[in-house]
Amino acid sequence: MSFVVAVDGPAGSGKGTVTKKIAQKLDFTNLDTGATYRCLALEVLKMGITLEDEQKITELSNCIDIKIEATQEGDKVYLNGEDVTKKIREPEVTKIVSQVSAIIPVRTKMVELQRKLSQGKKVIVEGRDIGTVVFPNADLKIYLDASPEERAKRRQKQNEESNIKSTYEEVLKQIIERDNNDKNKKVGALKKADDAIVIDSSNMTIEEVVQKIENLINERIK
Ligand code: C5P
Repeated sequence: MSFVVAVDGPAGSGKGTVTKKIAQKLDFTNLDTGATYRCLALEVLKMGITLEDEQKITELSNCIDIKIEATQEGDKVYLNGEDVTKKIREPEVTKIVSQVSAIIPVRTKMVELQRKLSQGKKVIVEGRDIGTVVFPNADLKIYLDASPEERAKRRQKQNEESNIKSTYEEVLKQIIERDNNDKNKKVGALKKADDAIVIDSSNMTIEEVVQKIENLINERIK
């Protein structure tokens, strides 16, 4: 059976944590589409390509091999055979990923990959343009939001837990910059689909958000 839940929203809105939990509870596959753009951004850094060189970045997107494997401890991400699950979360990657993902042919390639990774499955897919571009006919669309301050607080906590050095002020600044970049992209911008259900998680616990989405999925499956 194929069933697609699209979850869009800005950085730090809780999409990652929430979709992982729902996937485990309901036995869905969880696809973090941001990871595909992060892999390319990591490779851009590795190859020393400048962000202005859109042609080289596009060429690179056509020859890298990205694999995402669901495991008990969460998704493992492989780039050209190397486990980059942790590396793609580093601040250097976060800093440039939005610009890399704004390149139109790059998006075409990644959207194709994201559809392939979801084919024929019960999936919960998270990103920015899932309900609008990747799966416009998704069975359920959620737009998960939260205030920038709350999102920065959460991201800083995650960084501390993963031993990634950052300050709250830096994270807040990056989140606001990334929101602007993501909302103003020519293609694949962060946007609520007309038929998406909005959940503002600013004053909700993770469990409350999980429960709310789980109820919506169960209603639609019926
Ligand atoms: O979700 P995450 O924060 O890991 O995504 C990293 C970046 O990848 C986002 O800031 C956005 O620029 C880009 N992205 C995108 N479309 C998606 C998912 C992520 O453009 N579907």
